Amino acid sequence: MASYGCGKGCGVDMEYIDNGDWECPSCGIVIPFGVPNEDDTSTGESLSVWDAAEIYLSNGCDDDYCFGYSHEDLMRASGNL
Ligand SMILES: [Zn+2]
Repeated sequence: MASYGCGKGCGVDMEYIDNGDWECPSCGIVIPFGVPNEDDTSTGESLSVWDAAEIYLSNGCDDDYCFGYSHEDLMRASGNL
């Protein structure tokens, strides 16, 4: 089982605490239930197409804010296609 790790390389399973939160018994980091921690060290790449579309549109469809998605993907996600 490698489904729950704190992402810090502690090598221990997360422990369920309360309110849907999981805590690493080694370093004490708390991760809310439902937040994937496989890619939590990479910034931007895990952004959903819908969130990316919102940012993209709010920046005037600037290519700097396409987050790796195509213009068509972003427009479709935002309902503009
Ligand atoms: Zn840890």
